[in-house]
Amino acid sequence: MDAPHHGNPTFRPRVLLVEDEVKISDFVRAGLAERGFDVEACSDGNTGYERASSGAFDVIVLDIMLPGRDGLSILRELRSAGLAIPVVLLTARNELGDRIEGLNLGADDYVAKPFFVEELAARIQALLRRVAGDGSGRIHVGNLVLDRLARQVTCSGHAIELTGREFNLLEFLMRSAGRVLTRKQILEHVWGYDFDPSTNLVDVCIQRIRRKIALIEASDEAGSPIESVRGVGYRFRQAP
Ligand code: CA
Repeated sequence: MDAPHHGNPTFRPRVLLVEDEVKISDFVRAGLAERGFDVEACSDGNTGYERASSGAFDVIVLDIMLPGRDGLSILRELRSAGLAIPVVLLTARNELGDRIEGLNLGADDYVAKPFFVEELAARIQALLRRVAGDGSGRIHVGNLVLDRLARQVTCSGHAIELTGREFNLLEFLMRSAGRVLTRKQILEHVWGYDFDPSTNLVDVCIQRIRRKIALIEASDEAGSPIESVRGVGYRFRQAP
């Protein structure tokens, strides 16, 4: 995999890795360094929080169970201090609750253990690209192009008629392509206030958008660019 360069061949994204398991920390550090990242590692939550809030990093890779302060509390504190630095959580395979809580607290993505370092590197690169944006006001993912200024969406060049709400939801998903968004995040972002979390507004709106896309690119639910992530929410598939 090529090193990420953002148009600048000497740009080495600075990654803070907060992970107490030596084996994981070592392989992540070596793997990311090999792929062009500049990695600093620390192994306890208190140091992790201090370093994370220093402003010295482009992205934080954060384990949840840590000695000292735990990962979710670090994340909560960073966000409530107004620090928007991208955070990727490392979660254990069965920590679905932590994963959802982490996303709701403002994590940008998560990688479930065990994972390949290639996968983590790809997630980090996608996050950095998203933060940088391309400045055109257009978002391209796969066959879909969303023009934020004209408020138009096309699929393989054919216009898709969306309501304002559908447009906003699709924009939120496409801007976060590759990342899982919880129903609660979608509700707060697209509807703008707190609904009963058991409402199916999000699911109904997603179904309508999927149907409109499917009119152009015949696809069933499994082939839809909007993927259901069981028990968590939705993810817009990243272009291959
Ligand atoms: Ca741990």
